[in-house]
Amino acid sequence: MQDPFGRSVSYLRVSVTDRCDFRCVYCMAEDMSFLPKAEVLSLEELDRLCGAFIRMGVRKLRLTGGEPLVRRGIMTLIDSLGRRLQTGELDELTLTTNGSQLEKYAAGLAAAGVRRVNVSLDTLRADRFTELTRWGKLDKVMAGLQAAKATGLQVKINAVALRGVNEDEFDDLIAWCGDEGFDLVLIEVMPMGEIGDSARLDQYLPLSMARARIQQKWTLDETDYRTGGPARYYTVRETGRRLGFITPLTHNFCESCNRVRLTCTGTLFMCLGQNDAADLRTPLRSSEGDAALEEAIRAAIARKPKGHDFVIDRRRAPAAVPRHMSVTGG
Ligand code: SAM
Repeated sequence: MQDPFGRSVSYLRVSVTDRCDFRCVYCMAEDMSFLPKAEVLSLEELDRLCGAFIRMGVRKLRLTGGEPLVRRGIMTLIDSLGRRLQTGELDELTLTTNGSQLEKYAAGLAAAGVRRVNVSLDTLRADRFTELTRWGKLDKVMAGLQAAKATGLQVKINAVALRGVNEDEFDDLIAWCGDEGFDLVLIEVMPMGEIGDSARLDQYLPLSMARARIQQKWTLDETDYRTGGPARYYTVRETGRRLGFITPLTHNFCESCNRVRLTCTGTLFMCLGQNDAADLRTPLRSSEGDAALEEAIRAAIARKPKGHDFVIDRRRAPAAVPRHMSVTGG
């Protein structure tokens, strides 16, 4: 699948649920209301949709959410997608998770063919963790990470950089990831979704600043390592691990974008930072065959925009994109 700008779309991120067992302060309001069940695709429907994308050229799938591992029966979808790794239809199946359920699922994920997981973790301090996630327990996540490690899953830690919240912990995170054998990616907070207060501007920490501070203590060697994604990677010389920076607001990464995002209601977003979307649930449910669905996917890819336009600007409304990250997945 090629978009109008010649980019080949080979990566699909699928939000399998909008529900989450955490309420991270920069992501959701505490009293979030979630989608009625009838609007959410069944696991069979999600599998069928993924199958259509795979037939059309998607080689890499990432499950996300909400929290993917809180969706009931999720392993049936993961096992089914895992079989497509065995047949060679798919190169990679990964998952972005908050880690709360990893202890339970790590072995099953590895058995299904998952090799890497991204685990979101913004702080190593238990009290701060509960403050940030409102409902999360750090020891559960740590147990999940150890289970992932024990089954041989490669782990990348995603930490959102939040001004005045965890900016004093980057050195600790780098050292800890070095000890554990994890890669680390720092993410700039993005203006997505109303989060119940006007804190977004206060949370925003430009990663150029964070990097300069990190470089006072650590040696960051340039690498040409790329995942096709927005992260810019360095190798931390002292630990040998990768450190990535995702800077959507200060660095444009759209020209190499190879991905589209599917929500759990079957809405396809061609860009994380734009509102244009395509309804795939209607063609999916309208017939048993996939012809209409494939046509809708083709039409959507033909509308993939050149780039996003997130702006954090005092003169604008705080949320440049009205939907929450939990809708489109991170
Ligand atoms: N529950 C899973 C998890 O925690 O990784 C998957 C979904 S979560 C929405 C995916 C990622 O998006 C997490 O790393 C989270 O920290 C990040 N995220 C959520 N809201 C964000 C925002 N406004 N700006 C930047 N990252 C955000």
